[in-house]
Amino acid sequence: PIIPDYLTDALADVEPDVSGELAAYIPELAGADPDRLGAVFATLDGTIYGAGDIDHEFTIQSISKPFTYALALADRGFHPVLDKVGVEPSGEAFNQISLEHGSGRPLNPMINAGAITAHSLAGPQGLDPAGRVERVIDGLSAFAGRRLAIDEAVCASEMGHAHRNLAIAHMLRSYDILTEDPTAVVEGYVRQCSVLVTARDLGVMAATLANGGVNPLSGEQVIPRPVVRQVLSVMATCGMYDAAGDWATHVGIPAKSGVAGGLIGALPGQIGIATFSPRLDAHGNSVRGVSLFEQFSSDAGLHVMEVP
Ligand code: GLU
Repeated sequence: PIIPDYLTDALADVEPDVSGELAAYIPELAGADPDRLGAVFATLDGTIYGAGDIDHEFTIQSISKPFTYALALADRGFHPVLDKVGVEPSGEAFNQISLEHGSGRPLNPMINAGAITAHSLAGPQGLDPAGRVERVIDGLSAFAGRRLAIDEAVCASEMGHAHRNLAIAHMLRSYDILTEDPTAVVEGYVRQCSVLVTARDLGVMAATLANGGVNPLSGEQVIPRPVVRQVLSVMATCGMYDAAGDWATHVGIPAKSGVAGGLIGALPGQIGIATFSPRLDAHGNSVRGVSLFEQFSSDAGLHVMEVP
C-alpha cells in the first residue's frame, strides 16, 4: 500500500522533533499527551488513508472557525455576514483585540474577534444561544459525517479563563457587531471550540471543502459551492494566524490550525489532509503538523501556485 507506507515514513521523519509547547492558557489542554502523532489523507471518493493516532479524540479549537463561518454564510447569505466580518488578513495573533477603525468590524473570521462574530451568525436570525450551539454542532457533524460531541471538561476549563475573549466580545457589542449578551456568545463559541474530533474526522471535514461542499462519505451537500470558494480563500490568506504568509509560500494549501494540535489542509478538487500533534510553535501552530504539511506539499507537488 503506497500511500499508508508514505504516511508512516513521513511520521517517522518528524517524530524525533519534540520542540514546541502545549497550549497552556487552557489548563485542561496542558494535560494532553504531547507525543501523539497522526496524519490522514482523505480523497474525494471517500477513501481514508491514515497513519499513527488517527482515532484519538481532541478538541477542534480554531479549526472550527472556517466551518462555522461556512455555516453562517450558508444560513444568512453573504451580505449580512460580510457586513459584520471582513476578509482581510490581519497578520496578527489569533487573540489580538483588533477591529477595523470606525466600524469595529473584525478583520477576518479566522481571528477570534471574527470567529466569535461568525458564531453569532450561525443559524437563522433570532435563534437563542442554545439553539445556535445545536446548529453549529449539527453542522460540524455533517462536515465530519458522524455525530460529534463536546468535551465538557475542556469547555469549562477554557470558560474559566476566557477573559480575553470576553473582552473582545464586549468590544464587539459596543460597536453593535454583536447585538446580544456578549457572555452568551462567548459561551457558545467556547462550546464550538470544545467539540471533540479525530484526525480522521478532520480529514473528512477538509475533504468536504475540497469536494465543493459534498461530504465524500455521506454524499450530503453540507454547504453550497460558492460558500466553499469563500471559505477556502479566507483559509488561504488568514488560516495560519501571523504565519499565514510563510505558510502560503512554503506550503501553499488552504489550511487551518487549532491549539489542541490539529491542522487541516483542503486542496480544491483534490484532497483533504489532516494532521495531529499537540506541541505548538510560537504562532500557535502544531510544530510537527507544519513539518508534515511542508513535506506533503513538496513531495506531491500540492502547492496551489505550482505551475504544472
Ligand atoms: N478556543 C481558542 C480560543 O479562542 C481557540 C484558539 C485556537 O485554536 O487558536 O482562544
